[in-house]
Amino acid sequence: MPKIGDLIKCPECGGESRVVWVSQDAKLAAIKCTRYHNQISRPPTKWASNVETKMKKGIVFLTDVV
Ligand SMILES: [Zn+2]
Repeated sequence: MPKIGDLIKCPECGGESRVVWVSQDAKLAAIKCTRYHNQISRPPTKWASNVETKMKKGIVFLTDVV
Protein backbone atom coordinates (compact mmCIF):
# COMPACT_ATOMS: atom_id res chain seq x y z
CA MET A 1 0.00 0.00 0.00
CA PRO A 2 1.57 3.28 -1.03
CA LYS A 3 2.09 6.12 1.38
CA ILE A 4 2.50 9.79 0.65
CA GLY A 5 6.09 10.43 -0.36
CA ASP A 6 6.70 6.91 -1.67
CA LEU A 7 8.35 6.45 -5.03
CA ILE A 8 6.42 4.12 -7.30
CA LYS A 9 6.54 3.14 -10.95
CA CYS A 10 4.51 5.42 -13.16
CA PRO A 11 1.70 3.46 -14.84
CA GLU A 12 1.90 5.75 -17.86
CA CYS A 13 5.59 5.80 -18.73
CA GLY A 14 7.22 3.33 -16.35
CA GLY A 15 9.37 6.06 -14.88
CA GLU A 16 9.79 7.20 -11.33
CA SER A 17 6.88 8.95 -9.71
CA ARG A 18 6.08 10.15 -6.23
CA VAL A 19 2.86 9.56 -4.31
CA VAL A 20 1.38 12.90 -3.31
CA TRP A 21 -2.05 11.78 -2.13
CA VAL A 22 -3.80 8.55 -1.15
CA SER A 23 -7.56 8.16 -0.77
CA GLN A 24 -9.05 7.13 2.55
CA ASP A 25 -9.84 3.63 1.32
CA ALA A 26 -6.34 3.46 -0.19
CA LYS A 27 -7.72 2.40 -3.57
CA LEU A 28 -6.81 5.60 -5.36
CA ALA A 29 -3.61 7.56 -5.32
CA ALA A 30 -2.41 10.77 -6.89
CA ILE A 31 1.10 10.49 -8.24
CA LYS A 32 3.47 13.07 -9.62
CA CYS A 33 5.66 11.79 -12.40
CA THR A 34 9.16 13.15 -12.82
CA ARG A 35 9.23 12.48 -16.55
CA TYR A 36 7.62 14.24 -19.46
CA HIS A 37 4.20 13.10 -20.50
CA ASN A 38 2.06 13.64 -23.52
CA GLN A 39 -0.94 15.41 -22.14
CA ILE A 40 -3.90 15.94 -24.36
CA SER A 41 -6.01 18.85 -23.33
CA ARG A 42 -9.42 18.40 -24.86
CA PRO A 43 -11.69 21.37 -24.35
CA PRO A 44 -15.36 20.50 -23.85
CA THR A 45 -16.39 21.92 -27.19
CA LYS A 46 -17.22 20.60 -30.62
CA TRP A 47 -14.14 22.09 -32.23
CA ALA A 48 -11.80 19.17 -32.61
CA SER A 49 -9.16 21.44 -34.11
CA ASN A 50 -8.71 23.00 -30.70
CA VAL A 51 -7.29 19.78 -29.32
CA GLU A 52 -3.65 20.31 -28.55
CA THR A 53 -1.02 17.90 -27.42
CA LYS A 54 1.86 19.08 -25.33
CA MET A 55 4.61 17.48 -23.37
CA LYS A 56 4.43 18.32 -19.73
CA LYS A 57 6.77 17.49 -16.92
CA GLY A 58 5.81 16.84 -13.36
CA ILE A 59 2.13 16.32 -13.95
CA VAL A 60 -0.06 14.95 -11.19
CA PHE A 61 -2.70 12.40 -12.00
CA LEU A 62 -4.87 9.83 -10.29
CA THR A 63 -4.23 6.13 -10.57
CA ASP A 64 -5.70 2.96 -9.11
CA VAL A 65 -3.62 1.31 -6.44
CA VAL A 66 -3.18 -2.38 -7.08
ZN1 LIG B 1 5.13 8.96 -16.06
